[in-house]
Amino acid sequence: MPDPAFDCTACGACCACFRVDFHPSCGEAQGGLVPEGFYDELNPAIARMRGTDHVSPRCLALCGTIGQAVRCVIYDERPDPCREFEAGSPACLRARRRHGLPE
Ligand code: SF4
Ligand code: SF4
Repeated sequence: MPDPAFDCTACGACCACFRVDFHPSCGEAQGGLVPEGFYDELNPAIARMRGTDHVSPRCLALCGTIGQAVRCVIYDERPDPCREFEAGSPACLRARRRHGLPE
């Protein structure tokens, strides 16, 4: 559950901070949920959300302005790392810090 101290819909920092990798079987091309066009299959073991390995990362599925109003356009179909990411965790705080948001 998100930490009530943070409103993720007014943040989005983690979606523009980290590489988001998952197993290709979770992608639509192999019968999974993550829609085709939002990720690349790098090899038989790794698929990656597009945009998350850029120098200034930003997931292709992130819509809106970081720190103001955002949404994940594939929220119900997002990959496991996104489901497991915890608001208020050290990684969350690191992402917020990187985007100049209060911790
Ligand atoms: S899939 Fe959605 S929740 Fe996951 S990094 Fe991209 S925008 Fe964020
Ligand atoms: S960085 Fe933390 S507060 Fe911001 S969207 Fe991600 S989980 Fe939510």
